[in-house]
Amino acid sequence: MKENSVSRRKFLLTSAALAASVPLLTKAQALDKMARPAKGNFPVKAISSANGEKATKRAYEMLLAGKDTLDAVIAGVNIQEDDPKDISVGLGGLPNENGVVELDSAVMHGPSHKAGAVAAIQKIRNPSKVAKLVMTQTDHVLLVGEGAFRFARAHGFQEENLLTEKARKIWLYWKQSLSNKDDWVPPPDSELDPDVAKFFGRPAGTIHCSGMNANGDISCVTTTSGLSFKIPGRVGDSPIIGAGLYVDNEIGSCGSTGRGEANLQNLCSFAAVELMRSGMSPKDAGIEILKRVKAHTENRLLDEKGRPEFGLRFYLLSKDGSHTGVSMWGPAKFAVTDKNGTRLEDCATLFEKD
Ligand code: ASP
Repeated sequence: MKENSVSRRKFLLTSAALAASVPLLTKAQALDKMARPAKGNFPVKAISSANGEKATKRAYEMLLAGKDTLDAVIAGVNIQEDDPKDISVGLGGLPNENGVVELDSAVMHGPSHKAGAVAAIQKIRNPSKVAKLVMTQTDHVLLVGEGAFRFARAHGFQEENLLTEKARKIWLYWKQSLSNKDDWVPPPDSELDPDVAKFFGRPAGTIHCSGMNANGDISCVTTTSGLSFKIPGRVGDSPIIGAGLYVDNEIGSCGSTGRGEANLQNLCSFAAVELMRSGMSPKDAGIEILKRVKAHTENRLLDEKGRPEFGLRFYLLSKDGSHTGVSMWGPAKFAVTDKNGTRLEDCATLFEKD
């Protein structure tokens, strides 16, 4: 009993100290700070990573038609998940080091503040749809691996081989040219498939999409095949709520693409939305988060000028109707569809390539 009261006292003191140091505003204070359109007059829009022009267009059309904000953004990213030419997501995504495609995705629905996610799921091309079912048809938020696959099968998702010939060839060349201390030998350059020749590094990519309807409701989705040639079982930032995406329906949303590990170490999407809550614009919040990532980056990942050598981008949508993309490195673009049409806009950047 005594122990309990000591712990409780400690807890209260710690909470008070935390409250003093973290500028968390109440909902009313946050809303006071933010100029918001009236319900029914919010600017309908969808924003996405640069591979999402088609996604934002489809999401926007569905938002205008009065569909649920989450259904709209999921339908948007399904275009890329279904596209075998996009090697960063869904069908045709680059595989893990064993040549097996493993996908990550998360969804978050602003009006209900509910979320769902799947990680390292195999053989199902639309992990974003499965993530939504985790949200609506389970009492959980995240299912992984075999369990996520069985859950998808139970809901009637088709099992298929997601490794396209293009992705297999890129993976095979990566494996053949990894080391001269093993028995795999790459083909001579003259015989190299042109599709493969373009991919000498470790290509990465993801699609994030956020959408807002005329009532100011916001939802978002992130879906990816993750880091190419990853260690099997590696989970990136995309399916982690608060990292790969986050939305507070009263404040705004944030989603990410790029080096997942850097995002996971800083829980960037949650942090960015909290900065917007404290009154920062989407751009200032996004740049502040990139600076925080830089400050926390270990030396082995910094260049000679102390700049992170990896890419990381955030896409932010504010309840006040404004939006932005921010990128560790520029030049970089992101996709938007609103009443002015579909286009790529420039990201604000922390560093420009020399
Ligand atoms: N964020 C993804 C991950 O780390 C990869 C990417 O967007 O490039 O899995």
